[in-house]
Amino acid sequence: MGLRESLRKLKEEEEAQKKLSVKREVKKELTKLKNQIKTTTKKCVMCSRDAQYSIKGSSEWYCKDCAKECFGDLSHLKKT
Ligand SMILES: [Zn+2]
Repeated sequence: MGLRESLRKLKEEEEAQKKLSVKREVKKELTKLKNQIKTTTKKCVMCSRDAQYSIKGSSEWYCKDCAKECFGDLSHLKKT
């Protein structure tokens, strides 16, 4: 393989790598967005901010701060 050809090949591989990492970035952003949508559907019953915690067997949701304030610790709570 000549130098010119191997250089071309190296460049091609570089491009392919770049495309792959862009794909990965997009996928990551999409997952983040999906998670955001999921969490924004739940509202804290105390302050109506986004809630991530709920009591087991209950439909009431709490944000981290309110959950801490009400229950002291988060170990009894289910995290989304
Ligand atoms: Zn709250």
